[in-house]
Amino acid sequence: MNLYVSCDMEGTAAVCSWHQCDPSNTYEYPVYRRYMAREVSAAIAGARSAGVTGVLINDSHWDARNLVWDELPDDVRVVSGVPKPLSMAQGLDGDFGGAFFTGYHAKIGDENGVLAHTYSPGALYNVRVNGVTCSEALLNAAMAGYYGVPVLLVSGDRVIVEDVSRHLPWITGAIVKEGIGHYATESLTPHAARELLYERAADAVRNASRAKPFTFDGPLTLEIDTVAVEQADFVELIPGFRRTAGRTIAFSHDDYRMIFRAFVAAFRLAGAASAVA
Ligand SMILES: [Zn+2]
Repeated sequence: MNLYVSCDMEGTAAVCSWHQCDPSNTYEYPVYRRYMAREVSAAIAGARSAGVTGVLINDSHWDARNLVWDELPDDVRVVSGVPKPLSMAQGLDGDFGGAFFTGYHAKIGDENGVLAHTYSPGALYNVRVNGVTCSEALLNAAMAGYYGVPVLLVSGDRVIVEDVSRHLPWITGAIVKEGIGHYATESLTPHAARELLYERAADAVRNASRAKPFTFDGPLTLEIDTVAVEQADFVELIPGFRRTAGRTIAFSHDDYRMIFRAFVAAFRLAGAASAVA
């Protein structure tokens, strides 16, 4: 079985601050990026112990240049850099038997979600598909589902693992920490988290046959609430988007890949609004 791994950083064990996840930080980030890469490697090792062969990793945090290459196994391929048309889901296609989401975090607005946000915290106040408020994991799971790929494993804090499990009840979760608040956590040590990832990844692959691709039922409508009105002014310019409230824009399409691409375009463009301030 070929495995797709989308790895974020905020849900890595021990992480509780943007300083640890911000590539411009020269004190903490170099340490924590290694913890991120080692969790990914532990999950892959566990998956391989249960029969996975080919692995594609998508570095899905910030500018997607986080993974320390010499912390990874040799026989994987890695997607790096931005922008990517499918962002945290770049590289997915029907060749994968399953997907892992590692280091994932709670959606924006969630209480006790460590560093909770949805894609672009400076631009996106909320994201809904067909009225369902979405985490990054749910948006990306539907992209995997579009290609018929089930998500088998999610790791991160308790809030995101329980949130994803409500929508994807077949998923295997690896809770590496508890949120005490937005910027505080009670966490496993990185070493213990890697052992948990190894075990849960193996379980996830063994249970792959009962997992299902996650999809939203069509017709599909994406709604985005921006943080600021001027960000909605920008997104409204994209053909096909309509303004439904001061800070809300909507886009409808039958094809989830188009919904997802529209979402990526919208948050990138919303982020550009601050450039004219
Ligand atoms: Zn991230």
